[in-house]
Amino acid sequence: MEIVLRNLTEDYVMLVYNEISSTLDCCKCNQCRLDMLSYALNRLKPRYVVSSEGELMTKLCEFDYQFETQVMSELTKAAKIVKANPRHNLSENTEKEN
Ligand SMILES: [Zn+2]
Repeated sequence: MEIVLRNLTEDYVMLVYNEISSTLDCCKCNQCRLDMLSYALNRLKPRYVVSSEGELMTKLCEFDYQFETQVMSELTKAAKIVKANPRHNLSENTEKEN
């Protein structure tokens, strides 16, 4: 199996985003989604691991409740900021999903 270098925080933030995106009062287009994810990721501690792809999901379960709360809090802040300054109109390539 292939060994990869991964930032588990990135996978985890995406996971949490997918869970709570419907409750976030913000545009869900690709541009806004990525802006929110990058905002949150820049404020959270990265957690790099060297692992095989198959083991990554198991490792994601090791994050504790406190970190999950932190991720949700950063995503909520990110949603407010992105909503106030949406960038989706600046790019013509943006997919209009909303
Ligand atoms: Zn948008």
